[in-house]
Amino acid sequence: MRGAMIYAPGDVRFETVEDAKILKPTDAVIRTAVTCVCGSDLWPYRGAEPIGDPHPMGHEYVGFVEEVGSAVTSVRPGQFVVGSFATSDNTCANCRNGFQSACLRREFMSTCQAEYVRIPDAQGTLVATDEVPDEKFWPGLLAVSDVMGTGWYAAEAAEVGPGSTAVVVGDGAVGLCGVIAAKEMGAERIIAMSRHEPRQKLAREFGATDIVTERGEEGVERIKELTGGIGADSVLECVGTAEAMSQALHSARPGGNVGFVGVPHDVAVDGQELFFSHVGLRGGPAPVRRYLPGLIDRVLTGAIDPGQVFDLTLPLGEVAEGYRAMDERRAVKTLLKP
Ligand SMILES: [Zn+2]
Ligand SMILES: [Zn+2]
Repeated sequence: MRGAMIYAPGDVRFETVEDAKILKPTDAVIRTAVTCVCGSDLWPYRGAEPIGDPHPMGHEYVGFVEEVGSAVTSVRPGQFVVGSFATSDNTCANCRNGFQSACLRREFMSTCQAEYVRIPDAQGTLVATDEVPDEKFWPGLLAVSDVMGTGWYAAEAAEVGPGSTAVVVGDGAVGLCGVIAAKEMGAERIIAMSRHEPRQKLAREFGATDIVTERGEEGVERIKELTGGIGADSVLECVGTAEAMSQALHSARPGGNVGFVGVPHDVAVDGQELFFSHVGLRGGPAPVRRYLPGLIDRVLTGAIDPGQVFDLTLPLGEVAEGYRAMDERRAVKTLLKP
């Protein structure tokens, strides 16, 4: 089979890779329906994370079950399935507490930009749709496997509630999905921080009521102006840089909350400052598995359309161009079709 491999910063190749096959009775193999490039794939692509030996890439997927191991009874060949970027048995204590992305058996998916994918712990990881959904829903369901689930978690961690004011730091796919989540959770005012016009437009379509183009402390000042001088109830940090985190922490009001889902790179939080800010802070890889049934339903009923974050569609074989387009900010997110 063929799939993407990263060799070095800026060097992603589509080539023959090891076949996806059942290695354990708890595995399944799926045939990829659509997959994509994630903002977090850009960290190694840009040299911000070590790459080591050449390795496969990709952790977002929807597909058709091709084969299941002997211990897998919840899904069967032919079904259309959505899974999370983190595998989970969905039965251990952490899973039962709703933190499937901290499953005691967790593995992070990393081979999904390929024609076929092995899914560990398929029984707990995969959710099948009732029937094969119309192709127009595939991008939305693919978004649910990571960015929509992650945006949802950011909003939940930031305790967005009915009538609240939410700020979203980051206008990438996760930030845009965070806007969708804040809207669904009843935020009355949603302030998106974005400098890029097409992304501002999409943020507004998704429910943003205000756009702030300033960054850093200037951005914080703008947020304070818009929130009676105190800051927002909820702030969703969807980038992962020191600047974004500082902007998020300073944009929350005393008693407010920050949900941070951008994978932190060189982010340090000042204990004294956090102490005196009265701001609550929760982050981490999103427990997407917990949200899958609800989000799949929202997509299939048309309540939300997170598939709009894909503004470039390429054949899987052109995956390298998909990375380039995102790296050069010509695309928010690249959808790949095998
Ligand atoms: Zn991702
Ligand atoms: Zn578990």
